[in-house]
Amino acid sequence: MFNSLSDRLTATFKNLRGKGRLSEADVDATVREIRRALLEADVAVPVVREFTAVIKERALGSEVSEALNPGQQVVKIVNEELQNVLGGATRRINLAKSGPTVIMLAGLQGAGKTTLAGKLGKWLTDQGHKPVLVASDLQRPNAVTQLQVVGRRAGVPVFAPEPGATSEFDDPTGDPVKVARDGVDFARSKLYDVVIVDTAGRLGIDQALMNQARDIRDAVDPDEVLFVIDAMIGQDAVNTAKAFDEGVDFTGVVLSKLDGDARGGAALSVRAVTGKPIMFASTGEGVDDFEQFHPDRMASRILD
Ligand code: GDP
Repeated sequence: MFNSLSDRLTATFKNLRGKGRLSEADVDATVREIRRALLEADVAVPVVREFTAVIKERALGSEVSEALNPGQQVVKIVNEELQNVLGGATRRINLAKSGPTVIMLAGLQGAGKTTLAGKLGKWLTDQGHKPVLVASDLQRPNAVTQLQVVGRRAGVPVFAPEPGATSEFDDPTGDPVKVARDGVDFARSKLYDVVIVDTAGRLGIDQALMNQARDIRDAVDPDEVLFVIDAMIGQDAVNTAKAFDEGVDFTGVVLSKLDGDARGGAALSVRAVTGKPIMFASTGEGVDDFEQFHPDRMASRILD
């Protein structure tokens, strides 16, 4: 992840090493290289513009001209600004003060929501919580079965509609909003303390999907709405994130597939464009390929 961005920035900073003073031309050349590296990494254009403007301003200021090692000071500035773009402080999950914490997942089909439900469930279990997954994706024929497989692998129970069954919670109507609501009631009655609601995605943004997600949101009043986004989608990340932000007003972002050859642009753009924090990163298909997102560590990783 971020390999080529990281390589490009490292190469850029090499040119600054050992320079006693930085001329305006040095700063310009560096900022130009940073701009090119970010654009190649698919960072959204307005984000690149803003980012490089701040770097330039700071690099021409006294904190660099008066530094013993100006080159090193520029790297430090880029590190700080990267950390800012990535969200500043680590944003931890918001737990309900009473009753079960409800976490709703939203995103395009294939973004990694169902996989994430298992990872998040396992992660919460490891921390002493008692989560349950709720199958509110009734759009794809095998989505419920897929969540059940994921739940089994993660060791987390799944609340799912079972047509024709007789429990008070079974729902033969196929209404995802009702399943979500029933799932939360089920969790409350069985003393599960976290409910993770998987919702349907489409291949593209569509109004019916967004309305359904909003109806689920209104029905279960979640403590967190996590927008799951495939880090590989590059420049599309911004429009997708904006549409979901308007649609469901999510509270946090999960970047998935950061293990692939994602160039990292989504990570650097989504937070800047929506103002919503990146909370988790998914880094593989396995149930443990998942970590909390720490902007400071990620910035250092990029500049390593
Ligand atoms: P959903 O449609 O949003 O529920 O997406 P899924 O959870 O079904 O994931 C779609 C595909 O992406 C599946 O084949 C997953 O195994 C895969 N996937 C999900 N998360 C990751 C990840 O972090 N890394 C990789 N490499 N694959 C992932």
